Amino acid sequence: MTTTSIAVFTSDLRLRDNPVLHAAVRSADQVVPLFVVDRRVAAAGFAVPNRVAFLRDALADLDAGLRERGGRLVVRTGDAVEEIRRVAGEVGAGSVHIAGGVSGFAGRREAGLREALGSALQVHGAVLTAAEPGTVAPSGKDHYAVFTPYYRAWQGVELRRPLAAPRGVRVPSGVRSEPLTAVSALASGSPSPGLPEGGERAGRRRLTAWLRSGLGAYADRHDDLAGDATSRLSPYLHFGCLSPVELVRRARESGGPGADAFVRQLAWRDFHHQVLAARPDASHTDYRPRGDRWRSDETAVAAWKAGRTGYPLVDAGMRQLAAEGWMHNRARLLVASFLTKTLYVDWRVGARHFLDLLVDGDVANNQLNWQWVAGTGTDTRPNRVLNPLSQARRFDLDGAYVRRWVPELADIPGRQVHTPWKLPTPVSSYPPPIVDLAEAAARFHDARHGR
Ligand code: FAD
Repeated sequence: MTTTSIAVFTSDLRLRDNPVLHAAVRSADQVVPLFVVDRRVAAAGFAVPNRVAFLRDALADLDAGLRERGGRLVVRTGDAVEEIRRVAGEVGAGSVHIAGGVSGFAGRREAGLREALGSALQVHGAVLTAAEPGTVAPSGKDHYAVFTPYYRAWQGVELRRPLAAPRGVRVPSGVRSEPLTAVSALASGSPSPGLPEGGERAGRRRLTAWLRSGLGAYADRHDDLAGDATSRLSPYLHFGCLSPVELVRRARESGGPGADAFVRQLAWRDFHHQVLAARPDASHTDYRPRGDRWRSDETAVAAWKAGRTGYPLVDAGMRQLAAEGWMHNRARLLVASFLTKTLYVDWRVGARHFLDLLVDGDVANNQLNWQWVAGTGTDTRPNRVLNPLSQARRFDLDGAYVRRWVPELADIPGRQVHTPWKLPTPVSSYPPPIVDLAEAAARFHDARHGR
């Protein structure tokens, strides 16, 4: 009798080094590669134009790759648990394979599937991260709350050898699939003009170029805002078009200070995932409450979102976000500090706006980086405030990043671009600073330390 399995794709939209697909193909004669467009994801506000466009590319690419191997992707819309159970019934699946996730949503989905499918469900670890959350933990605790000791332990984790893509994929005939327009329909509105192309192939092209000509200089150049010398692999990691295990291994094989620094960033990604896995509520509640009584200031928040705070480096970051659906990490740190500490506005307001636009927008990385910056997360120096002017001197000395993203200031030479309010003739189309930095720092200090 012919046996059938299901490979459920979630945030692992790739053929290479995919333990879910690999196990599903090996465990049966036929496999249904399945992606469920879960309406609850859209209802929860996660289906935004940038990520939906990238997802559509990634699914189209996955379908093309499966077709080259004799198969195809099956797409269904609905509640993930219901749909997976339905497809399992239709094809008489003996096993259903899925990656273990870390969010509350993934946890509920897994619990629902366990109830519906029992022992037919097989959950695979270290698919979405290099080290599976929980693999390393301090004694007596379920996760690391500080990065440095985590990183030390993480470096000792033995990673599996990357798996090859399956050579052939036999899909049972007659399984109904919906067109990918079902995915596009999830979001209304246009994606950012500078959005990268999604999918495993595009991701691998970028990876190859990065390993060849970017990685070596990463340690020296990763904070140079205008230099744009980071990998930009984050959306491919978020959607699992690239395997984090493979990435860590290939970077380590390259060796050198650039590779070390890059692998350390990949460990940050795993670190946040293991925090969220242990504390799923950290997506919306303070990981370490500081007794904040955040201000509500709609005018300031609107100026921050629009990139019109009057602080050119903050505004450049926010404009890059709108234009590309991506922002340089150094700028993310600064704009987040500006919102939460200088304006003293709740980190959740900023995290929501980032999730509305970021193509790599990810619950673990976004919410926990926001908490890190706000001082309610895992930062061991929770009250540090980044000053936009000193950040400009360190990371955009000659102003090239600002001139690239704030056209009103494009003609101002050199570092003067960071203080347009000091120019003899003010730039009429650009606003004056919306807040005094010294007053804001004092306000934050009072709020955190009590008067
Ligand atoms: P590279 O510098 O090339 O780093 C390689 C990879 O390491 C990245 O692709 C990413 O997967 C990982 N990485 C790097 N820095 C971090 C970090 N601080 N935390 C976790 N992983 C990291 N990253 C996201 O992937 N999704 C988000 O939603 C997200 N939101 C953020 C919000 C704030 C407020 C801040 C300060 C950072 C956020 N980051 C997020 C982390 C980081 O800014 C991005 O991962 C990085 O800028 C992506 O660009 P890159 O791929 O060129 O990174």
